[in-house]
Amino acid sequence: MIDRLPVPFGLVRYGVAPDHESIRSIRNTLERTLEKSCVRFYGDVSIGVDLSIAELRESVDAVIYAYGAGTDRRLGIPGEQLWGSIAAAELVAWYCGNPDVHPDAGQFSTSDHLMAADIDELITSSQHAVVVGVGNVALDIARILIKSVDQLTDTDMAAQVLDSLSRKSITDVHVLGRRGPAYTAFTTKELREMGQIPGVDLVVDPADLELDSSSQAVVQQNKVAARNMVVFQDWAGRPLSGASKRISFHFWTRPTMIMGSDQVTGVEIERTMINSEGYVVGAGGRQTLAADLVVRSVGYRGLPLVGVPFDENTGRVPHAEGRVIRDGGFSPGEYVTGWIKRGPTGVIGTNKSDAVETVTSLLADVHDGAVQAHGRSGKLDRLLAERGIRPLGMTAWHRINAAEIELGAKHGRLRTTLAHRKELLAAAKSDADNLA
Ligand code: NAP
Repeated sequence: MIDRLPVPFGLVRYGVAPDHESIRSIRNTLERTLEKSCVRFYGDVSIGVDLSIAELRESVDAVIYAYGAGTDRRLGIPGEQLWGSIAAAELVAWYCGNPDVHPDAGQFSTSDHLMAADIDELITSSQHAVVVGVGNVALDIARILIKSVDQLTDTDMAAQVLDSLSRKSITDVHVLGRRGPAYTAFTTKELREMGQIPGVDLVVDPADLELDSSSQAVVQQNKVAARNMVVFQDWAGRPLSGASKRISFHFWTRPTMIMGSDQVTGVEIERTMINSEGYVVGAGGRQTLAADLVVRSVGYRGLPLVGVPFDENTGRVPHAEGRVIRDGGFSPGEYVTGWIKRGPTGVIGTNKSDAVETVTSLLADVHDGAVQAHGRSGKLDRLLAERGIRPLGMTAWHRINAAEIELGAKHGRLRTTLAHRKELLAAAKSDADNLA
């Protein structure tokens, strides 16, 4: 298993919200797999930089691409580029302590993305946040923005992230859904959790919950939609407690412009409806929501990796049952799984059945002789060694793990994530390395 970052666990460490400890604990299962003698972890090896796809394919008998959806989708409305308008992916990477957004001291960023210092400035200067989109990522973002720092200290968040969150003063998070409450992409467990945050009122307009005939049909056919409606109805029926913080859900509402001259001051929104062809269209009735922070959480999109077939229209690697299609036919020894295979949908468990399909194809190809073991064991190691690249393995992870647990213990926490690459590399080194 090869990862660009110095540590294993990918999405589980850098995508799942830190306050979702039970989902994050899947890490333990993954760790047991990585510890098996037949599995090797190569951390801090970047395919496309350290090794080309062609070199990788020549070094092993089969490759499974599992590099996910590397970017966010845009809204395509005026003002999206303003200071204060940010992608959910940037915020997620920040609060999960991803070294990509936590540059080392003195490291010059070449990325177009906001870095930790920018996000700190935004988070600590904002009072009203607007989150566009009604999927589970939008819920993660709204929760992290509204929770007080005391409600987040029992997570493994990096110290600098907690420090920023301790200085924030966000009182209102507005979540915008361009369709009605029957059409959200929320899972019910995650939605219910929003109503259980102490000190936060949930605001839902009862008028938004009156269902037209197509919404009624959705609720009748879709159990999740029906359960979500019950949650919204419960919230709409609750008197507001007068708490100092609120999450407000606005349905049939989409942003038409992010307002401000150099930084966000508000969002122009309009009412929407679904037209006879099934498209979301404006229904008139524009108004302005005051906001200093706008987070677009409208889904992710896969990025091409040089040397791997890619469908620009879908943002995915073309495949059949996980077998990569290259030049119109199957490419022996090339497979794909996860978001770069099926698009950015599904919960963690969806990846299991997805991977099973891919691995079943791989094993069938081995059985049929389409993929053969060439006894290339060691070729990858030799190639990396020739280039002076020293992958970080599970021993390095054990040291990083121990360092994070030790750091956490100093502050009465189970773990504190090390967010800077230099910190991770320093923790990964053994005393012997330090003497060398
Ligand atoms: P998502 O589930 O696809 O939701 C995207 C949302 O953005 C939808 O509500 C969509 O509305 C809306 N949207 C898209 N384009 C829009 C536009 N131009 N203007 C306004 N709204 C727009 O994506 P996600 O939230 O990024 O989540 C990705 C996947 O990760 C999902 O499968 C999610 O369940 C999963 N996830 C799971 C968890 C968890 O289990 N705890 C946590 C995080 C993520 P329309 O439906 O109208 O297009």
